[in-house]
Amino acid sequence: MKSQTIHTPTADQIRRAPKVVLHDHLDGGLRPGTVVDLARENGYRALPHGDADKLGSWFREAADSGSLERYLETFAHTVGVMQTEDALRRVAAECAEDLAADGVVYAEVRYAPEQHLEGGLTLEQVVEAVNAGFREGERRAKENGHRIRVGALLTAMRHAARSLEIAELANRYRDSGVVGFDIAGAEAGYPPTRHLDAFEFLKRENNHFTIHAGEAFGLPSIWQAIQWCGADRLGHGVRIIDDIEVADDGTVKLGRLAAYVRDKRIPLELCPTSNLQTGAVGSYADHPIGLLRKLHFRVTVNTDNRLMSGTTMSREFEHLVETFDYTLDEMQWFTVNAMKSAFIPFDERVAMIDDVIKPGYASLKAEWLFR
Ligand SMILES: [Zn+2]
Repeated sequence: MKSQTIHTPTADQIRRAPKVVLHDHLDGGLRPGTVVDLARENGYRALPHGDADKLGSWFREAADSGSLERYLETFAHTVGVMQTEDALRRVAAECAEDLAADGVVYAEVRYAPEQHLEGGLTLEQVVEAVNAGFREGERRAKENGHRIRVGALLTAMRHAARSLEIAELANRYRDSGVVGFDIAGAEAGYPPTRHLDAFEFLKRENNHFTIHAGEAFGLPSIWQAIQWCGADRLGHGVRIIDDIEVADDGTVKLGRLAAYVRDKRIPLELCPTSNLQTGAVGSYADHPIGLLRKLHFRVTVNTDNRLMSGTTMSREFEHLVETFDYTLDEMQWFTVNAMKSAFIPFDERVAMIDDVIKPGYASLKAEWLFR
């Protein structure tokens, strides 16, 4: 009770707390002003508004419509203006800067190289431009007093047929900025097992991957991602709740799949605001994150698409603190969970936890003493 009031973070503390994001889309996090600039520079004429503020609201409203398919449509515009090396580099640099300014110390940001070839770039040019942008953003953040490391995840689109090629690309760049692989896109009708050869290739190469599963679609998608494809983490995975029964007296019973996910400590990349927007969940209070945290699943908190959801890591935590009375202790728990689940080497993860995250929270927790 006492630590609850002392350690309940203020909005300012939430922003300054070290945070880790594992599920953030590069094409879902552009600054509205940058979309406008890039559209003008590249002769892209399909934007619904030429004014940055109006465009920002348009993105959020379109994404608020309640359907995953409609939500995905908004990406036509962001991807549309990300077709040159300069554009990709700028967007990646600003992404690193924005995350760092929000207190994120480690980020894995994903994008689908195959969606950035319309201007004639090769897959390699896309990856190198984004990597250069992340490095530039890390440098600029440092000049402004923020420390951040950003790793890229290369995504293959689940409705397309280039996943093996993209997995090979991720593997080629694994020692230069790319930390893993992912598949994304509408779940219904496109099970992860369509891309088995990509996952088998990565497993043979001892490489890491996550799979978008259990967002809109449910348990079969999660089961395939883990047991057929061998995913290291679940992108969303929120529908694992369908395999958990809570009786009227509060007793909880896990089904076989939910038990497996918890036993094996499989990380869930939960994205609360995004789930609300796509209609997967009705309200923050109804979001399964509350129960999954209580049951000690390996839960992480993520943004998914900052532009479409009008969110940041700080805002996600503000909602959770408000809804579930979380303190700095829970924030630290989610953050350590995420860092443990990152795809960078073990020694670097441990150092990030021991030398950055824990001291950061300890210092925030001590602030009440000196008020
Ligand atoms: Zn996603």
